Amino acid sequence: MCAGLTRQLRIHDFMPYSMVNGPGCRSVLWLQGCSRQCPGCFNPGAQPFDGGETVSIDEIYDRITSLQKGIEGISVSGGEPLEQAGPLTELFRRIKADTELSILVFTGYTLDQIAALPALRGFLDNVDVLVAGPFQCGEAPGPGLIGSANQQVHLLTERYQLDGILAVPEVELLVLPGGEIIISGIGGGEALSALRTLSRQAGGGGDLVDRT
Ligand code: SF4
Repeated sequence: MCAGLTRQLRIHDFMPYSMVNGPGCRSVLWLQGCSRQCPGCFNPGAQPFDGGETVSIDEIYDRITSLQKGIEGISVSGGEPLEQAGPLTELFRRIKADTELSILVFTGYTLDQIAALPALRGFLDNVDVLVAGPFQCGEAPGPGLIGSANQQVHLLTERYQLDGILAVPEVELLVLPGGEIIISGIGGGEALSALRTLSRQAGGGGDLVDRT
């Protein structure tokens, strides 16, 4: 786990607007790099530490704050966000100091594991919601944005209620002007399969991008 003082993040993807990665409309940042090797990983492209692109904290901060009138917060997923806990902590501190945006983080670590690691001290100080615990492929998905039922939602501030987190839609479909189709959402396994099938039957006029 890297909790160093680098001012860069290695990112896998960024989505300016999403309704299925936390409450309300949110920007989503997927980080690149994960050593957890969960069987049935839902985002294997985010595992290699040399993939994605390296972006400065300043650039990510500018990208997010330029959207703040249209979003209520950001969600951070992976990969494993805690592999880049140092620069993320700095990004969160700046966002909370300068904006009203909320912050939600998905991690494979449990809350107890995070609390026990000195390198992660301060990481949760500006996080509103933590969805924590390893993805277990054999487990049924939980409600809303919960990838496997063993994962826990921790409300670390008073910004949200549990009902609101669990009521997040499971999947969304975006069709971009160029024909690219983006599916996002961590649950809704049957719905996602049906959407992929429909896309192929339609002749594959656009790329299908799965952003879980
Ligand atoms: S933590 Fe997420 S990205 Fe990493 S191996 Fe598990 S499912 Fe895949």
